Amino acid sequence: MDGNPRTTQLSRAWAAVGRQGTVVLEAVELWIVELPFPRPVFTSRGAHRRRPLVLVQLIGQVDGRTVEGWGECAALADVTYDDEDVSRSFSALDHELIPALVEQVSGDGRRLPGPATLEIPATLARRTPLAFAALEMAVADIHLRSDGRSLAAVLGVEGCTVALGAVVGTHGTNHDLVDEVRRLVADGFTRVKMKIGPGWDVDPVEAVVEQVPGVRLQVDANGSYRDSDLEHLCELDRFGLLCLEQPFDRSDLDLHRRLAERMKTPICLDESLDSPGTTASAIAMGACSVVCIKPSRLGGLGAALAVIEACTAKGVPLWMGGMYESGYARGVNTTLAALEGFAWPGDLSPSGTYLGCDLVPGLDLTRSGEDRSLTSALPPGPGMGPAPQSEVLERCTVQHRHIHATPA
Ligand code: MG
Repeated sequence: MDGNPRTTQLSRAWAAVGRQGTVVLEAVELWIVELPFPRPVFTSRGAHRRRPLVLVQLIGQVDGRTVEGWGECAALADVTYDDEDVSRSFSALDHELIPALVEQVSGDGRRLPGPATLEIPATLARRTPLAFAALEMAVADIHLRSDGRSLAAVLGVEGCTVALGAVVGTHGTNHDLVDEVRRLVADGFTRVKMKIGPGWDVDPVEAVVEQVPGVRLQVDANGSYRDSDLEHLCELDRFGLLCLEQPFDRSDLDLHRRLAERMKTPICLDESLDSPGTTASAIAMGACSVVCIKPSRLGGLGAALAVIEACTAKGVPLWMGGMYESGYARGVNTTLAALEGFAWPGDLSPSGTYLGCDLVPGLDLTRSGEDRSLTSALPPGPGMGPAPQSEVLERCTVQHRHIHATPA
């Protein structure tokens, strides 16, 4: 395969994590924490004042030393984005995925496999991909912590910085929207993503393009249009957008292809891309020419790295999406976004801009360059970054389960 020598090494580097299998698994802790939103987040299911998060903590031993690893699940409080919500992820981890892991390690002196050799039945991993991704992250993290290595070191991006983009929701008036975009640009976010939907598209986009010149703008419809909107969506072509994201239902790749044939604006897919295979097919059939990376939606970090590697080799632009993560998982996304292939700043605004308290300290931010753009350092190692702080866990935990790593 052609492409950048660094990105073509990704799968190999990932497969090497934990290959020596020196961690002996002792226990698994499952958590649900609720972190406050200072301003309510509105979805089609109502207003959310807290971000519930499922966390997986693995506890193990290496040469008499206790080590831990953390994984964060992207599932949301409701099924707005995905049909796997927080309670479904927690239950899948508790009743299916962790028992499958315990079963796997029991045959090998409780030695933990690497994240690339987890033997979780494919049906389980596919049914609850967000829960699987959290478990895989925890497995990778415990190996990296035990080796004293960071994810950034594995990916060859240590010391890099990443420019940050921000997202604006649907606002009541063009005036409010323009004010919000101006404020974000003044804060150093050089790319802004606008949510659009039927009745909130061409006019507000025009207002932003005219009144905030120079902002790199993309729009996200979250699948809210139908085939009868094809003509109307083509009107967005005159604004020079970075991309139009997920205009139609996730299952309708052919409709996306038909729109892509008619529009100059690149079509990006988010919800539709649930695996490396689907991503490759969608690109091959012309349903998208830009890919939004969300590791959990793609099937975990290993799957995301496979997509990044394949897209970078083909020159398909990537950018990093977000799921209202805590700073822990946002740090992981920030690390991935430092890879070559990420074409513009992603949805990586610091977690402190949407969470009232966080599991981990914020990343180091700087303003630089002529445009005073906001850039973030990567989380310091080892592992994915600093582990969740115990006093925040104590304060914010609403559910907790301890599971011994010995089969029932
Ligand atoms: Mg999206």
